[in-house]
Amino acid sequence: MEFAMGIFFFVLGAVVGSFLNVAIHRLPRRESVVFPRSACPACGAAIRPLDNIPLLSYALLGGRCRACSVRISPRYPAVELLSALCAVCLYVLLGLSISLAVYLPFAWALIVLAFIDAEHQILPDRITYPGILLSALVPLLGSLKGVPWGESPDRLGWGDWGIGVALGAGIPYLVGEAYRLAQFRKPPEERLDGMGRGDVKMLAMVGGFLGWKLVLLTILVGSLLGSIWGLAGVALSRYGMKQALPFGTFLAIGAFLALTAGPLALQWYGLVSGLGGVSR
Ligand SMILES: [Zn+2]
Repeated sequence: MEFAMGIFFFVLGAVVGSFLNVAIHRLPRRESVVFPRSACPACGAAIRPLDNIPLLSYALLGGRCRACSVRISPRYPAVELLSALCAVCLYVLLGLSISLAVYLPFAWALIVLAFIDAEHQILPDRITYPGILLSALVPLLGSLKGVPWGESPDRLGWGDWGIGVALGAGIPYLVGEAYRLAQFRKPPEERLDGMGRGDVKMLAMVGGFLGWKLVLLTILVGSLLGSIWGLAGVALSRYGMKQALPFGTFLAIGAFLALTAGPLALQWYGLVSGLGGVSR
């Protein structure tokens, strides 16, 4: 039964992933994610339903458009696979529970943000603003008695939610301002961007969903991953120092790690620092 549910969530994740692909392609272009039907970006041919099966169609078509044979970006099957694996992973971790219903869409939103930021260096308001609003479901549903919340992460109270949103927005905002102040003598074209407005809104959303402890962990892990990537890029000189790194992409990875491994990490931290453990 559990195995069958795992398969179900894999298929669900792959199907949703194909919709995430539409969002990743269209949101930065300010197009509707609902209409018109999907078409090949190269030749404009409508994609037939049989050629639109997540993962399978890409393999069957050999990664090429049926009409014009132009290569289809491997991003499409990659997003579908990632979305499917996220769904299975969260199902295994959270079980059939309210927290799964809340955190699976959150993980899907992170995937969309990660891929759009990597390609366009923006984090669309059309994801982050509704995300901040929807994050209020976490304390709302968590406060209801008799709701099968699930194992992890802990239920958030309204205070934890509010501080999470405030820290999530406040830290990148202050870092961005400090960055601007530190280089005010430089001519504008030489200034580097610190954290942008998009990071502020994205982290407010993450703070709402995960609470203040795990949003701090998200920022820590995201910054660490971003620094490693940046240093590796400089070392390989694939990036000049001036190229803005897609910080939102690393924040999305950090937020997913905080969601899945964060509660354990906090417990472990509580144990080693002798604080008597994190209250569960
Ligand atoms: Zn085509």
